Amino acid sequence: MNTEGMIAIDVHTHAEISCWNPFDSYGEEYDRAADKYFKSSRRPTIEETIAYYRERKIGLVMFTVDAESHIGRVRIPNEEIAEAAAKNSDILIAFASIDPHKGKMGAREARRLAESGAVKGFKFHPTLQNFHPYDRMAYPIYEVIAEFKLPAIFHTGHSGIGSGMRCGGSLKLEYSNPMHLDQVAIDFPDMQIVMAHPSWPWQDEALSVCLHKPNVWIDLSGWSPKYFPKQLVQYANTLLRERMLFGSDFPLITPDRWMEDFTVAGFKPEVHELILKKNAMRLLKLEARVTEEKPTSLAAGD
Ligand SMILES: [Zn+2]
Repeated sequence: MNTEGMIAIDVHTHAEISCWNPFDSYGEEYDRAADKYFKSSRRPTIEETIAYYRERKIGLVMFTVDAESHIGRVRIPNEEIAEAAAKNSDILIAFASIDPHKGKMGAREARRLAESGAVKGFKFHPTLQNFHPYDRMAYPIYEVIAEFKLPAIFHTGHSGIGSGMRCGGSLKLEYSNPMHLDQVAIDFPDMQIVMAHPSWPWQDEALSVCLHKPNVWIDLSGWSPKYFPKQLVQYANTLLRERMLFGSDFPLITPDRWMEDFTVAGFKPEVHELILKKNAMRLLKLEARVTEEKPTSLAAGD
């Protein structure tokens, strides 16, 4: 990613539809319920999303959510997003999503994607994927992520998906309690863990884990900053200013809307750049290279 001249990096955007695979209508009732809940049915293609971000000079991380075992729907191929990232490497970074129920086969896929450099991180959704983040079932995949020292984003808090459906679409909210990530952070100190969204109704749990475990971060996606819990903004301004990240949850929330509301949500001016860009550069290891000039007195080898 070429971060020069970029105004922000959005660490949380979704690939919504595949251009490789035919549309899989199985589980479409989840889409209709989500349209109703979010009052939007916009599902741009990967290319449309990239064009939108390019116009705004905003870098982006994109992923799908593989919940094939619990939802039964064919996922968007990780390779499709990786290919788009390879073609648009100045602006797009691909994360992969692998259903933890795939166990060792999932770990093999994770290794293939990490080893080739096609993806730079992973995304999990405990509620949609129907697993406790500390379930040993997921550990073979985490081990690969930790080995390659990559970040993993976990959905936390309430889920719009399933909201209002009979039995909530049999999706368990409890799996997305951020406190479950405390154990994962202990077991995988080399994996950077990003808790996605204000973790309502467990905001304080998220802040506590993030304060306690230095490999835990928070992405501020999915909500307009106007509605952030007060304590989230307070910690973003102070103790956790280096570990909070801009994310929109596009196409659910557009970066235009998010960034506009961000300026009036009580964030101190001195943390704006950290949250919008600099923290993401550190997380994604995009640190601008410092070109050190060799002192001439040492040039002769003394
Ligand atoms: Zn999301």
